[in-house]
Amino acid sequence: MQTKRLIFSGWFLFTSAFLFAQDINKIITEKEVERIERKLASDEMRGRKTFSPEIDSAAAFIAAEFKKIGLQTINNSGSYLQQFSLVKTKTLSTLTFLDGIELSPQNVAVSSNQIPLLIDENSGYETAFIKPGEKLNKEAFRLSQSGKNMIVFVDSSYAAEFSNLSFGKRAALRKNNSVVFLLTNQVPKKFSIDVKLENTEQHLSNVLGILPGKNKYATGDLQSDDIVVFSAHYDHIGVGKPVNGDSIYNGANDDASGTTAVMMLAKYFKELNNNDRTLVFVAFTAEEIGGYGSQYFSKQVNADGVVAMFNIEMIGTESKWGNNSAYITGYDKTDMGEILNQDLRFSGFTFYPDPYPDQQLFFRSDNATLALLGVPAHTISTSKMDSEPNYHKQSDSIETLNLKNMTEIIKAIAISSKSIVAGESTPSRVKTADLR
Ligand SMILES: [Zn+2]
Repeated sequence: MQTKRLIFSGWFLFTSAFLFAQDINKIITEKEVERIERKLASDEMRGRKTFSPEIDSAAAFIAAEFKKIGLQTINNSGSYLQQFSLVKTKTLSTLTFLDGIELSPQNVAVSSNQIPLLIDENSGYETAFIKPGEKLNKEAFRLSQSGKNMIVFVDSSYAAEFSNLSFGKRAALRKNNSVVFLLTNQVPKKFSIDVKLENTEQHLSNVLGILPGKNKYATGDLQSDDIVVFSAHYDHIGVGKPVNGDSIYNGANDDASGTTAVMMLAKYFKELNNNDRTLVFVAFTAEEIGGYGSQYFSKQVNADGVVAMFNIEMIGTESKWGNNSAYITGYDKTDMGEILNQDLRFSGFTFYPDPYPDQQLFFRSDNATLALLGVPAHTISTSKMDSEPNYHKQSDSIETLNLKNMTEIIKAIAISSKSIVAGESTPSRVKTADLR
């Protein structure tokens, strides 16, 4: 009796696994992968640079596909675009006096978006001095990030480096503080600084589609609990100097491949139509210029309710282990990688821990923003980061991709997420104290 029963249940399991495999091969096809990838990586998209008209075309394309698939719009707003803006600040002129003597404008660097900016020794700004022999950029970045209004006197021994000062402008702007760097021999008793700035507001959009879950907590709202995120960034770095007659950075692998995966997974889960948890499919903007898309998203979503984030980056080439394998960044930070491999155990796919730990990849993509809020948020990639020949080059075009393997990796991600999507397993949270 016992034995027969075992045989029967074994046969039953085999049948259902077989049907499952059939379905996935019909839905996630190389032909469809190629159609989407070819569009996103085409020359007409001109490298999908943030703030370009072409990235808006890419967003419109992704939104149209989400609509075709039948995803729900953001909080039922009727739009798949999650729009926000960034302020870009340009310094037009500076007039600075130190103890009554005018300082040349080239010895002044400003990080601020306050208009007008008029400062003297009574304005309540803290002062600091960067002494000879320190690391200028590192110190400047640290002070910019302090969140305080500051005047930073920089010793004139840094004259050569001062013109290239990259003082974490964005870091300061995010915190709305003003930091002025002045190259000088000595700290003055009196000073006055008059800066003319121009602020321009620039608009950008993430593209989001939602598939509400079947469980009672799943409202299909970004503030709900029990959300699983599938994401990739759809921006790239645009157009540069021509190399061999090609000036367009198509970003076919980085990250049109991940964006294609997100769209294919949306199609797949919509056709299955049995997800217990709410699935949110996101194409992030502005990853390449500082991760602004995921930062904005992280403030619109209930991060405590996001049970897992599958961020997908560069899956268009074979991994260092060959076909049918990928790696997960920050593998040891949660047990999500183990859950994924458990779901993959009969599939022939393997997801390894990130083999390039020195490169800090866990912190270099859009997963990091959510991970810092405790979300089990990892990036899945196949990119050989020590030797990928076309990374951030004009040659990152569709001809260099292995679309067959990429299609298989997308299937692997779908299979690996099965028990999480079904609400049967829940990864452990990232311990945020360990990340700082
Ligand atoms: Zn990327």
